[in-house]
Amino acid sequence: MDFALDDKAEDLRSRLRAFLEENNPGRPPKDQEERRQWQKAWARLLADKGFAGPSWPKAWGGMELCLTEQVAYHEEMTKARVPRQPGGLGIVGPTILRFGNAEQRDRYLPPIVRGDEDWCLGYSEPEAGSDLPSLRTKAVRDGDEYMVNGQKVWTSHSMTSDFMAALVRTGSDESRANGITYLIIDMRTDGITIRPLKDMTGDTRFSEVFFEDVRVPVTQVVGAENNGWKVARTALGFERSTANTARDMGYRRILDDLEKLAGELGRLSDPIIRQELAKMETSVRLLHLNNLRILSAVLKGEDPGAESSVTRLMHSLFEKRLHELAIEIIGPNGLIGGSDRLAVQRGRWAWGFLRTRGSTIGAGTAEVQRNLIAERVLGLPYDPGMPAPVI
Ligand SMILES: Cc1cc2nc3c(=O)[nH]c(=O)nc-3n(C[C@H](O)[C@H](O)[C@H](O)COP(=O)(O)OP(=O)(O)OC[C@H]3O[C@@H](n4cnc5c(N)ncnc54)[C@H](O)[C@@H]3O)c2cc1C
Repeated sequence: MDFALDDKAEDLRSRLRAFLEENNPGRPPKDQEERRQWQKAWARLLADKGFAGPSWPKAWGGMELCLTEQVAYHEEMTKARVPRQPGGLGIVGPTILRFGNAEQRDRYLPPIVRGDEDWCLGYSEPEAGSDLPSLRTKAVRDGDEYMVNGQKVWTSHSMTSDFMAALVRTGSDESRANGITYLIIDMRTDGITIRPLKDMTGDTRFSEVFFEDVRVPVTQVVGAENNGWKVARTALGFERSTANTARDMGYRRILDDLEKLAGELGRLSDPIIRQELAKMETSVRLLHLNNLRILSAVLKGEDPGAESSVTRLMHSLFEKRLHELAIEIIGPNGLIGGSDRLAVQRGRWAWGFLRTRGSTIGAGTAEVQRNLIAERVLGLPYDPGMPAPVI
């Protein structure tokens, strides 16, 4: 994509470059907790120096950049290989900004921008994943509080999060999407038990979270009681689209790394490998263009909308295929883990291959995204075998 960026974007680029040259935090520490603190320190530094929250309103400590500036920002950050911006900025932040009241914005937004407080998303349950409106974690009103009972699962980063943005049932058992409330739950509240789940990379990034008589003030409702589905749909749109803006720049870099590795291994003389790399090259450019389209809609004040499912689907299929191709290029050694002497590039591709198996499941499975695209973008008939759609 060689479209020219304007002067404003180039000015930002040179200021950012100078900042990054002086302050680049270098390679991440190996230890998980040290790495977390290292990321937090970086987020604080960005906030202090006015480089946090590229798409975030200035009134809330962000940079409020226009489209071309955001492109320049993410390009420079990706090139410098610095830590990603705090997770809360992509999904929970925009949701509170849009649906939260004044007190909630004052309380929660500043620490999100500074990376001082971490968030997890408590949506999925053992019996409610793709069919999220069937969720059963109950919040029963008791004076000025709700009493929450139930279970979430696959909750990423819950062990280290300060708050959960949870979907809970406040309506009747049959109320489906009309009886769901979006509730902020402090993860230190009595009655919460977190049980980590190990994934196939060996990491414990997500967990089961159990709620037993957990008391949550009613002031923690975002939007109105029983109106949480509307809030969640916007939040899911952010998760599936703008939260990915920096990601396609990251893919650009990973693909460059893979092409370089293929050359070093003498694999570029293989016409099939060349053809597959060319397909990846096409995809990474399409991803970028599609992201710009969504970003531009959001900057105009529009919701990410059902089109965000296109972005999510393309991203997940791309990163899965990219790592499969890496293993095909490297051969059997590509599957050897980091600590072994035969591991290629410290097992980076093997780890990525395992991690991306889940890409077409998280944030809505590939099948569900395809259904959404068919029904809400292309206007095809609804699946008669499924419960009535919730718009
Ligand atoms: C890496 C990762 C991180 C995650 N992080 C979080 C998180 O932080 N918070 C959170 O709440 N959840 C999280 N999840 C959970 C994720 O959102 C769910 O796994 C996902 O929504 C699917 O739900 P499920 O696992 O219950 O599968 P199910 O809904 O039971 O689906 C099983 C299979 O049936 C298919 N299927 C279901 N319905 C349909 C349909 N209507 N048409 C066609 N096929 C269908 C699915 O595509 C899938 O193949 C994470 C998952 C992963 C993998």
